[in-house]
Amino acid sequence: MLGTISRRAHPRLGALLGLVILVAGTTVALSGAGATAAGSVTQQPSTISKEPWGTVDGEQVDLYTLTNSNGMEVKITNYGGIIQSIKVPDRDGNFDNVTLGFATLDEYVDHNDPYFGAIIGRYGNRIANGRFTLDGVTYQLAQNNGPNHLHGGVRGFDKRVWTATELEQQGIVGLRLNYTSPDGEEMYPGTLAVEMTYWLTNRNEIRMEYHATTDAPTIVNLTNHAYFNLAGEGTGTIEGHFLRLNASHYTPVDETLIPTGEIAPVAGTPFDFTTPHTIGERIRDNHEQIAFGRGYDHNFVLDRPSPEDTSMINAAQVFEPTTGRALVITTTEPGIQFYSGNFLDGTLVGTSGKFYRQGDGFALETQHYPDSPNKPQFPSTVLRPGEEYETTTIYRFSVRNP
Ligand code: BGC
Repeated sequence: MLGTISRRAHPRLGALLGLVILVAGTTVALSGAGATAAGSVTQQPSTISKEPWGTVDGEQVDLYTLTNSNGMEVKITNYGGIIQSIKVPDRDGNFDNVTLGFATLDEYVDHNDPYFGAIIGRYGNRIANGRFTLDGVTYQLAQNNGPNHLHGGVRGFDKRVWTATELEQQGIVGLRLNYTSPDGEEMYPGTLAVEMTYWLTNRNEIRMEYHATTDAPTIVNLTNHAYFNLAGEGTGTIEGHFLRLNASHYTPVDETLIPTGEIAPVAGTPFDFTTPHTIGERIRDNHEQIAFGRGYDHNFVLDRPSPEDTSMINAAQVFEPTTGRALVITTTEPGIQFYSGNFLDGTLVGTSGKFYRQGDGFALETQHYPDSPNKPQFPSTVLRPGEEYETTTIYRFSVRNP
């Protein structure tokens, strides 16, 4: 995953900006290639603004509102780099917030146990017994999820105040977030300088670019933990959403959700989403892996031409038939964790005032595989001084007819 070539010029974004310039000032369809319906809207300028949202440990926290030329609106806070709201149209042009979250900063600080919308690090997902060995040194991290380490520990990147910079570039707005994780924070080795940039494009995409460097060997696995309900946050179950995953294998887990190390075929199991299935269709199947996850909570191995391939590929497609909303996720990462919101237990009140119950949202976390530091056969998550950690993931929203 690692190379020494800096991709700071963002060649892909450059291409994208070119495309946007071509359509600027015209009337374009809301939906993406291959999609239909939703009509079209008159273009409006992309904007970014911020409002004060509170303080955490004396540090100022703001809520940024990004809009694009189609009227899509995304709210992001520099507390945890959290995407607080994503408003996109349905097939009739009605905008709803399709991501789970809270209305206030205090709620995120007090009880964002599901990691709604946050940037996850230094190591997203689980590490067995919170322990790994790197260059002969064994590190013991917090065991904050049963016996295991989860999502960066007790106070991971999701609970840090990031430095934010508003970006405007050729008709596109973005938010750059920087955080320097000191050597020894959460017991990880090495000072890690992280830069994460969100772009809101005029193709109704949230583009996430992750970059990190270290001054000593360490492990890194960054992701975003947005939960989606394409019918609208707080409207109930996501079991009727159709999901397709570009993955003919997955990593089965033990009862504590640590991969066994096996790369198993999905064929003939409830994990086969190589063709679209509703999330609910097989979620109650009496399958050991479904029992361990209380539903889906598994890493899928994305189909790539070779294990070294890091090109942008289509990882997941989701379609919600009642609203026509669709989500396509593309990524440079080798894996994607599909989590069907199994541990939402009806105790948290979401953004629009509704309780979130089991399965009221799902997450698709692009990532390296869980417990990679203890699984030499998995793609490496080690970052060394002089190397650049670079990954990109895009959430693209559109609408289509059934
Ligand atoms: C994990 C789940 C966990 C959730 C919220 C997901 O990434 O796979 O097991 O409950 O995050 O913590």
